[in-house]
Amino acid sequence: MLAELSALLGGDIVVAPDAQNVVRHTRDYCVEGNPGVGILALTYPRNTGQVSAILRYCNQQRIAVQPQGGMTGLSGGGVPTGPCVVVSLERMRAIKEIDTAAGTITVEAGVVMQAVQQAAEDADLFFPLDLGGRGSCQIGGNLSTNAGGNRVLRFGMARDLVLGVEAVLADGTVIDALRKVIKNNSGYDVRQLFIGRHPRHHHGRGAAPVSQTAQRLHGDLCGGRLRGGTGVAVTCTHRVCLAADSL
Ligand SMILES: Cc1cc2nc3c(=O)[nH]c(=O)nc-3n(C[C@H](O)[C@H](O)[C@H](O)COP(=O)(O)OP(=O)(O)OC[C@H]3O[C@@H](n4cnc5c(N)ncnc54)[C@H](O)[C@@H]3O)c2cc1C
Repeated sequence: MLAELSALLGGDIVVAPDAQNVVRHTRDYCVEGNPGVGILALTYPRNTGQVSAILRYCNQQRIAVQPQGGMTGLSGGGVPTGPCVVVSLERMRAIKEIDTAAGTITVEAGVVMQAVQQAAEDADLFFPLDLGGRGSCQIGGNLSTNAGGNRVLRFGMARDLVLGVEAVLADGTVIDALRKVIKNNSGYDVRQLFIGRHPRHHHGRGAAPVSQTAQRLHGDLCGGRLRGGTGVAVTCTHRVCLAADSL
């Protein structure tokens, strides 16, 4: 199985588990898992196509997959509980686009929250999602857990910031619901199906890693930048909503 997956994706994407490298993939911030749980392969895809290929193969072979972000979750959602292929999004860290005219930023799912915040700030924009794990958690994990964070009362949950997502179904099908516009009444709101899933385990057709997502950002037109939690810009009446794609 390892040889087949390596042949499909390449040796740098598929890594054989050993006593050392499984340790950080079997525990999150609060849950200490079992390194001997039976991880079949560690995979580190670099793009959506590779995520799709892994999912397609595992689905055909009826192998469980375990998506992982920054492993800062507090409830073991990313911790394997049985034999599986780990799909770590940590190499998908590209900030693909910041569109200051449209007010959007496009990033891959493995981009760390703090990097999104910084990229927005560098463009005089504001990405409001913030929590203590900001230096390690990934946007994909934030969406999967529908994270709230310390600005939730003012800006809402992670799902409230998302304008679109790209996700991969268990059979490898890529769902392109990556939109950057706020007005979108063309059918069902597919993006929300992939947010807040926070699955404990991903078996067969249940797996659906988020591959890209569009998040709403905030800024202000009053000359000052919004500062998280300080309320200094609360009185600004010309706030604009921005968006970001993130994997
Ligand atoms: C210090 C600290 C403070 C925190 N404060 C808050 C808080 O204020 N509010 C709050 O809501 N949460 C808080 N959290 C928890 C927070 O929800 C997570 O830290 C974060 O959202 C998880 O991101 P992660 O990349 O680490 O995901 P992981 O822990 O790696 O994974 C979490 C879940 O998401 C899934 N997942 C990860 N990436 C993807 C992907 N690309 N596609 C599909 N599924 C994926 C995993 O399978 C797992 O089920 C805090 C955590 C820490 C450590």
